[in-house]
Amino acid sequence: MKTLLSLHIATALTVMSTVLFAAPPHVHGAGTLQLVLEGSRLNAELRLPAINVVGFEHAPSDTKQEEAVKKAVALLRDSRQVLTPSEKAQCTAAPGVVASALLLEHGQADHDHDDHDEAHDDDHADFDVRYGFDCRRPEALKQIKVRLFQPLPKLERLDVEMVTATGQARQRLVPGQAVITLP
Ligand SMILES: [Zn+2]
Repeated sequence: MKTLLSLHIATALTVMSTVLFAAPPHVHGAGTLQLVLEGSRLNAELRLPAINVVGFEHAPSDTKQEEAVKKAVALLRDSRQVLTPSEKAQCTAAPGVVASALLLEHGQADHDHDDHDEAHDDDHADFDVRYGFDCRRPEALKQIKVRLFQPLPKLERLDVEMVTATGQARQRLVPGQAVITLP
């Protein structure tokens, strides 16, 4: 029994450390979006699996892949093109701030890393984007249209979590049903 108990503890610790220290695994085809509306400020955090954005999850290895990453960044930075709040809310937006391991490694691509590709073959990578909107009439912000399914046809769903002064809600968007209704 004592051995069995220690085994259980060891397993529990392994599970805990996996949860605490490993990056949350993503599911290909599924993105997430977190929205927080506080006063006149709407903050959004979008996370998309890189494979659904550019078709790969490693540092770009040729010009074509570099172009794909540049194009993706341009698309995702365009806040109002990605997320279109109700017109009546009169929201303005700064460009989205895009982060991705694909971008970090891009800067190092000039150096020679012979074992680079092999070492990262099994890794997943995301595109993370932060958006900030300022809305003159936040009380009129009832809906936000998400325009990602058309430019990113490999994206199958987007799970949205939102928090506003009136409550919390979750919504799953799919192609053809891509309008968020705020609580
Ligand atoms: Zn992946």
